[in-house]
Amino acid sequence: MKNSDSTEASRARGPESVNGKKCRFHPDREARVTCNKFEYGYCETCIESCRACSDPELYCRHRTYCVIWELCRKKVRKRQDTVSREP
Ligand SMILES: [Zn+2]
Repeated sequence: MKNSDSTEASRARGPESVNGKKCRFHPDREARVTCNKFEYGYCETCIESCRACSDPELYCRHRTYCVIWELCRKKVRKRQDTVSREP
C-alpha cells in the first residue's frame, strides 16, 4: 500500500531554520541563513534587502558555497552596474 509518508516527516521538523539562531538585525525573527564568515544569522527580509552580506565588496572564502551571496550577488552586481546593460 502507498502512504504519503513524506508529509509527516517534513512537518515534524517545521520550517527550515538555522539551529534556532536569530537574525542579526531582527532578534525577534529566526534566521534563515547564516554567514559562514562572521557567523551571523539573517532573516528573509534581510536577504531580500541584501543586508545579509556584511562585506559584499570584499573577498570571502566562503562565497563559493555561501547561500547569502548566491541570493545577493545579482542585486550587488546590479547595484555596481550603474550603466544598466541588458544581458
Ligand atoms: Zn532580519
